[in-house]
Amino acid sequence: MEPGRPPEERALRATVFHGTRDVRIEEVPDATLREPTDALVRVTHACICGSDLWPYRGELLIYGENGRMGHEFMGVVCAR
Ligand SMILES: [Zn+2]
Repeated sequence: MEPGRPPEERALRATVFHGTRDVRIEEVPDATLREPTDALVRVTHACICGSDLWPYRGELLIYGENGRMGHEFMGVVCAR
């Protein structure tokens, strides 16, 4: 955490899948709007669900190298 800095000034971190049983919290580039239907969401809470355990265990490859985990989250839409 970076206490004392407002959320919009903190580095963006993600749960990144590197391979079987290799998951890391890393700083990543800021997200950007690419399509007219995109929205930027400042995530306030996230979780790893049971379906994330399959790639973690090497039983199903759905993320690929450097894939972002944590598809279940909630937050505030800050741009669209
Ligand atoms: Zn899920």
